[in-house]
Amino acid sequence: MQIVVIGGGICGSLILRKLSALRNVSAVLVEAKSDLGQGVTKANSAIVHGGYDDPHGTVRAALCVKGNDLFADLCEELNVPFKRTGSLVVARDNPDEIKKLEELLENGKKNGARGLRIIGKDELKKIEPNLSEDYKHALHCSSAGITEPWMIAIAAANIGRMNGARVITGDPVTGCNISDGHVEDIILESGTRITADCVINATGVHYNEVASIFGVVTPPVKLRKGQYILLDKLAGGMIKSIIFPTPSEEGKGKLVLPTVDRGVLLGPTSERLDSYTPDDVATSDKGLRDVIDAADSLVPGISRYNWIIKSFAGLRPDTDERDFFIKADDRVKNFITVGAIRSPGLTAAPAIAELVVDELIPQILEFSAEPKERIVTRLPKTEKINELPFKEIARMIDDDPLHGRIVCQCNEVSEREIINAIREGAKTIDGVKFRTRAGFGRCQGSFCGWRIAQILSRELGIELSEVRLNEKDAWILNGKVRP
Ligand SMILES: Cc1cc2nc3c(=O)[nH]c(=O)nc-3n(C[C@H](O)[C@H](O)[C@H](O)COP(=O)(O)OP(=O)(O)OC[C@H]3O[C@@H](n4cnc5c(N)ncnc54)[C@H](O)[C@@H]3O)c2cc1C
Repeated sequence: MQIVVIGGGICGSLILRKLSALRNVSAVLVEAKSDLGQGVTKANSAIVHGGYDDPHGTVRAALCVKGNDLFADLCEELNVPFKRTGSLVVARDNPDEIKKLEELLENGKKNGARGLRIIGKDELKKIEPNLSEDYKHALHCSSAGITEPWMIAIAAANIGRMNGARVITGDPVTGCNISDGHVEDIILESGTRITADCVINATGVHYNEVASIFGVVTPPVKLRKGQYILLDKLAGGMIKSIIFPTPSEEGKGKLVLPTVDRGVLLGPTSERLDSYTPDDVATSDKGLRDVIDAADSLVPGISRYNWIIKSFAGLRPDTDERDFFIKADDRVKNFITVGAIRSPGLTAAPAIAELVVDELIPQILEFSAEPKERIVTRLPKTEKINELPFKEIARMIDDDPLHGRIVCQCNEVSEREIINAIREGAKTIDGVKFRTRAGFGRCQGSFCGWRIAQILSRELGIELSEVRLNEKDAWILNGKVRP
């Protein structure tokens, strides 16, 4: 039986990983972009939420709590960083804000969220000494944490590949053949046809478009933009936890949080887009100013201008129902939609994969899953020299001098790490960046970008002029200036 997953974000890749563990399934992942995890999974807050704020009774509330429980083991297996930093929803000495904390606590208890308690100003000050004096109370959630979601997508697809699954990138699904209410095959832009006994649509903000290719009707997506500012590691010492303001109708609010590589992230905004513009990830002056003002009101001085290294935006695939839409279709019998995966989609993703593979697929295909006898469950540790003690680095350099040739000075990434990333599947400058963090630091690739392009050219055996930043048309060179 062949099962095709469309969309290589965190959801699709984790579904593929689970399918690849089954003996009676041949699994295929098709991703439109040239790499995995480059859709919604790339641009978000990267928080593994505790699960206290999603309204009790919603699908997202249940899957968030379950996903949080699965996250530590998942990241251990995929060799992806995960830090349980804890989160704080902070409130002023104001009855409405305090009431909101109590409501969140109650809702969290009903959802089964772990590690929740309300704390007062003394404890708050101890945890976050740089928090504004205005905040006197907080809901502390010790089970919340931070991760690198795009790395989960890349690593999960790698495990899938190792267990026999096929992964196709840079070739969107554009058509299909349906007979007697069943998808028979899917057609890619390149003309490739793939037979399918079951299709999973996990295409992020594109889930309506892809569903319509199959004649499947899904709740219309309403895009909500989130703009962010990334601060350099210089700001890293100012906070330890994920700090939320008291939430409003608009959502969780603009926050201040650490990143796994010791930077700080500010944002996001929450802006409903009037039309369906899935490529609109532009930032705006107003949006970024709102992010700065909100961050400064939580942690005064955090947005000092010389710490800002990047701004970016992501799009949430929301709906009027404001809940996930994960369903087998009634009319097209072998089609499952994993749609409207808004926040907390990355937290919920491991639980979404279990729901799809353990419950929905067996229901619609009437088959019982047979696990393979031997599978890869764990990716080998990749050594990042900036995380190792000096003695260990010296030993590695003795064995292989490329460990000592630092290409990205900001994040201390060696030529060996870049070569390993290319051998594991990176084909572009962004492919290297998202696997190694080279180009993610203070200079944002200004110094190392050129060197990385040369290494890509050498390792992939392509001309320098063929090296791309990310997608097909994103060339970095358009010719020689001297013969
Ligand atoms: C601003 C913002 C903040 C967020 N913060 C958090 C947070 O802190 N914690 C949390 O838990 N969640 C958060 N989320 C939600 C989370 O990021 C998403 O729910 C999650 O990343 C969705 O993953 P996905 O795999 O469903 O979608 P995607 O990552 O978008 O993957 C879908 C993939 O499908 C591909 N695709 C599209 N069309 C086709 C086609 N025709 N053929 C083949 N492939 C196709 C796309 O290229 C894409 O790679 C946030 C979201 C946003 C936008």
